[in-house]
Amino acid sequence: MNPLTEIFYLDTDSKAHNPIGSNIFFNLPKGARSLCQECRTPITWNANWDNVELEIIGDTTHYYPDYISGNYSIISQRLLDDLVNAEASGFKAHAVGIIGVESKKLRSQQAPKYFIMEIFGGIDLDREKWDKFDGNLCSICKTWRPRKGGTVSWGDKQKVPLMNSWDGSDFMKFKNVKIGGDLCSRKILKLAQVKKWSGFGVRAILPG
Ligand SMILES: [Zn+2]
Repeated sequence: MNPLTEIFYLDTDSKAHNPIGSNIFFNLPKGARSLCQECRTPITWNANWDNVELEIIGDTTHYYPDYISGNYSIISQRLLDDLVNAEASGFKAHAVGIIGVESKKLRSQQAPKYFIMEIFGGIDLDREKWDKFDGNLCSICKTWRPRKGGTVSWGDKQKVPLMNSWDGSDFMKFKNVKIGGDLCSRKILKLAQVKKWSGFGVRAILPG
């Protein structure tokens, strides 16, 4: 299987003219965030998914989309229902409370019920193409850093999913190296085209 035609990054719909984004507040319990024992990176070990608050940003936006991208994917009730009906896998949806809406036009409308996606499906990054195993990878939290004097650095590496490591989930993250971004399968791309989710887009993973 060609990873380029099977796995995609979730993104904002590139045809949407009025940008919309989100600030997300996890309201973490005490002790949920601490330094990784091995590499000292601050890590959230226990996200409080059931107490998340959402602020919707973008002051020119005039409708509530089905999908809001950002560090975390936010989906509407309609989009969630479509995913459940299609038996999409690799995620859990948690209802979020809306604590602020920047756009005046939006504030006069009824907001849909929104959910944050906790994504636990996984696929590995092909480290042969990423860094030829040259960088330093934390064995606990999977944070990657360039090796001092090494042959690769930030921003010069190819992100290619290793297809035989895919757990088959429709929503996933890279598992062996901790890099941001939510991924989806071709099944989700096709569903989005049929259901015409507003705000929803995908982009190819390459070039890295
Ligand atoms: Zn670590």
